[in-house]
Amino acid sequence: MKKEWMLCDLHIHTDFSDGTMPLDRVVDLFGSNGFDVISITDHILDSVTMRYCRQRDIDPLVVLRENFYDYLGALWKEARRAWEQYHMLLIPGVEVTNNSAGYHIIANDIKNYVDPGMPVEDIVREIHRQEAIAVAAHPHRGSIEGSGELMHLWDNHERFATLFDAWEVGNGDDLFNAVGLKKFNYIANSDFHEKEHLYSWKTILRCEKNVESVKAEIRKNSVVSIYLFRQDKEIPRKSMDQFELHRLLGTERDILYGNRHTYP
Ligand SMILES: [Zn+2]
Ligand SMILES: [Zn+2]
Repeated sequence: MKKEWMLCDLHIHTDFSDGTMPLDRVVDLFGSNGFDVISITDHILDSVTMRYCRQRDIDPLVVLRENFYDYLGALWKEARRAWEQYHMLLIPGVEVTNNSAGYHIIANDIKNYVDPGMPVEDIVREIHRQEAIAVAAHPHRGSIEGSGELMHLWDNHERFATLFDAWEVGNGDDLFNAVGLKKFNYIANSDFHEKEHLYSWKTILRCEKNVESVKAEIRKNSVVSIYLFRQDKEIPRKSMDQFELHRLLGTERDILYGNRHTYP
């Protein structure tokens, strides 16, 4: 299969957790907007935060351990429809959410439940054992209302630097310069919770349109672009092909300045 530029969003919530839209409508929204690859990543939650919610009669709005395979089954069913109707890959995922210790980890292509209460290293080891991708979610965000500080991954970034397959350098409308400065592997995602969140940071990968190729490209992280998806703006696939040609044929200088002949 030929390598192509893939418009990807690998961090998306539905009303299986705290998203506002049902799964089928999320698939239709991304499919009709020309996405090549999406990953649905609803929250699973650590037991300490779960207990806190239950004691206060708060609905935690997460996928429960006992409902996990119903959730996965629904994703597989929609993955089939997404492919048949839109030629779009849907990769089943979760956001491993530990609000008591302050970290969120995205797992793309997950097959079994992962206990969010485990230490970070153990969670990532389990994600990798399932041959899924582990991504540090919004690592540099200060706080999210009601969930306390979520800085554990960044506070320990030297220790976790190469543990993850990638770090989110963009999430929603936010960019985390620090991730770029550290030269960590990166991707960018919407953290989609509602329709307006479609317009946000995305990842563009050059790979084949299958799950293994997408995962391999994220791990390798050599040709990754981030793209701010906005309403009524064309995705510049044609100029990306020209860019690729320059990358293959040109010098580093050509890559930096494209085909303009007036170098500064
Ligand atoms: Zn999160
Ligand atoms: Zn999220």
